[in-house]
Amino acid sequence: MFDLQKLVRKNVLNLKPYSSARDEFQGQASVYLDANENPFETGYNRYPDPHQVELKKKLGHIKKVNPENIFLGNGSDEPIDLLFRACCEPGIDNVVIPQPTYGMYTVSANINNVAIKTINLTNQFDVDVEQTLTTCDTNTKLIFLCSPNNPSGNLLTQSRIEKILSEFKGLVIVDEAYIDFTDYNGFVPLLNRYPNLVVLQTLSKAWGLAAIRLGICFASKEIIQVLNKIKAPYNISLLSQKVASEALDKETEKNKWVKQIIEERSKLQVELQKLKTVQHVYPSDANFLLVKISAAAKVYQKLVERGVIVRDRSNVVLCDNCLRITVGTPTENQILIRELSAL
Ligand SMILES: *Cc1c(COP(=O)(O)O)cnc(C)c1O
Repeated sequence: MFDLQKLVRKNVLNLKPYSSARDEFQGQASVYLDANENPFETGYNRYPDPHQVELKKKLGHIKKVNPENIFLGNGSDEPIDLLFRACCEPGIDNVVIPQPTYGMYTVSANINNVAIKTINLTNQFDVDVEQTLTTCDTNTKLIFLCSPNNPSGNLLTQSRIEKILSEFKGLVIVDEAYIDFTDYNGFVPLLNRYPNLVVLQTLSKAWGLAAIRLGICFASKEIIQVLNKIKAPYNISLLSQKVASEALDKETEKNKWVKQIIEERSKLQVELQKLKTVQHVYPSDANFLLVKISAAAKVYQKLVERGVIVRDRSNVVLCDNCLRITVGTPTENQILIRELSAL
């Protein structure tokens, strides 16, 4: 049985969180003299809502989850870091991060002095259930799975993730930063089935809002309460809350971008496969393509000289001679193909 009380660090369980002025008085008043704010109106003189109630309501409506199952962070980076701080005793506990994947889990583990049990994904970039589970010991608190995976672009097999969710006693974090580019609902609908499931999403990719830093974490009410306890009181600025809220009213615009990016992804895939130097274009459920190409590091440098920047992943495990190429606008993609053809 999954026991959150056992998983969370003692100091976090016993912590008395900071109580902001807006926590101590909730409701409407005519005179606010409780937060040492500047009383003169600038549009920004008041502290923002520490619990982002309006934003969570809107997001909950779109994602069909209760606001109490949502945590909002300063990018996905924040919930990733908070999960370490909530569950992992520095120097004692460890986490499992199947490679190759998003680099931030490893950085966050290192910052928090938490050991990493590094195993690989399969050659198909899927998760190896047996190996993942046998790698865990009694101090393994978190398993990070990225689906669609960065940098490979594929979805992990759902039944494999579910098997890990059923067997593992710690938290399984499924990072769905690219879920909007698939025609699949992902793991949010399974929150009620798995008390140890944490799903990460973000407004940085499909929603076109990387600049405002808005990461989303879905989990049980109990897990969300733990994250709320240890976050900075006003972690989402008023500016970010406003811009996010306006964007969520325009979901059709996001869907149009997604449709176009997926179409461009198919075209780009076809064009790349025509190039003699390209050995393989991996299938992608995301807004980028992993491309195996002769002398990848050299190709990367030559593209840089021509003003086209892609990501060199050739030093990453299982990604020998691979570049990760984000799908751009039609014009940008044509320039990429033109420059690659000219090499
Ligand atoms: C881009 C990306 C994110 C987004 O991070 P933010 O901090 O929300 O911008 C999260 N996870 C993965 C795997 C990504 O590739």
